[in-house]
Amino acid sequence: MQRRTFLQLGTLGLSAVGLSSFRGKKAVTKPIVISTWDAGLEANKAAWQVLRSGGRALDAVEQGVMVTEASQNCCVGLGANPDRDGFVTLDACIMDEAFNCGSVAFLERIKHPISVARRVMEKTPHVMLVGSGAQQFAVAEGFALEDGKLSKDAQKSYDNWLKKSEYKPIINIERTQLGHGPFAPEKLDTGEWNHDTIGMVAMDANGNLSGSCTTSGQGFKMRGRLGDSPIIGAGLFVDNEVGAATATGQGEDVIRICGAHSVVEFMRQGLHPEAACKKAVERIIKIKGTKAQAIQVGFIAINKKGEYGGYCIQKGFNYAVCYADDKNILVDGKYML
Ligand code: ASP
Repeated sequence: MQRRTFLQLGTLGLSAVGLSSFRGKKAVTKPIVISTWDAGLEANKAAWQVLRSGGRALDAVEQGVMVTEASQNCCVGLGANPDRDGFVTLDACIMDEAFNCGSVAFLERIKHPISVARRVMEKTPHVMLVGSGAQQFAVAEGFALEDGKLSKDAQKSYDNWLKKSEYKPIINIERTQLGHGPFAPEKLDTGEWNHDTIGMVAMDANGNLSGSCTTSGQGFKMRGRLGDSPIIGAGLFVDNEVGAATATGQGEDVIRICGAHSVVEFMRQGLHPEAACKKAVERIIKIKGTKAQAIQVGFIAINKKGEYGGYCIQKGFNYAVCYADDKNILVDGKYML
């Protein structure tokens, strides 16, 4: 397709037809959006609506993960796992193509932490707000203060957890993977799900990158515990000249290696997104030694060519990739152990 024709199609809001634009001879897959775990399929659909009509990647990654945050039937947001004291505390961050970034952590009773993170980015001179300060800012910005009650399923799971009150991260268990909702509700009784995150990175039709990451953190965590997800450079990093990456899994081990930033730096050195994710996973495994068998971490990334990839420690991680109206697919992450 001639570049001019593609641009015309783009102007008509038909950019989805032109999956690739051409820079010289090199095909660039754009727009494109990818996100962690199978909840990403629904989130990608919302992001794609923004991207296909020529919208900004930043809007796409915000609106995409808002779907997951709002779903009581999913793994992120106020419907998710509480901490060990019984309160849901949420962490989120967002980053655009110009190194603007915003983050909230330990935020309670607010439905869309990702949007509060965006307001932090756009309306304050800061990058991070936490706890009651973040909540105060959210309310001042017009976000509703929800009642803070646990969802029915989370209450059930918490009650079950309280029987032993044992904090033990369990690898690979996403609430959706256990068939939350209509699929296998009895599994919820086990209380065996504890990773509750969606990370999303996208490139828009203009070739700009952005990313978002939002979580309730690990289930039954210590009160006040933060993982990687709200930390720019750990749970999410975007460099518009190179690529974007996000992480999920055992947050402490992602923080240790500045995970998402490392993946982007590996792409800067010329590695394909999948190879870059793999190298970050290798780094964690090297540090953890045999203890790596007890944890899960997954990275996903895209580069400026619209190439994508993901890699994880253990079998069981997947991510959703969308680059056309009819191409929203779930990919099994390659794994090392
Ligand atoms: N990375 C998140 C955290 O450590 C958890 C997850 O991805 O499920 O808080």
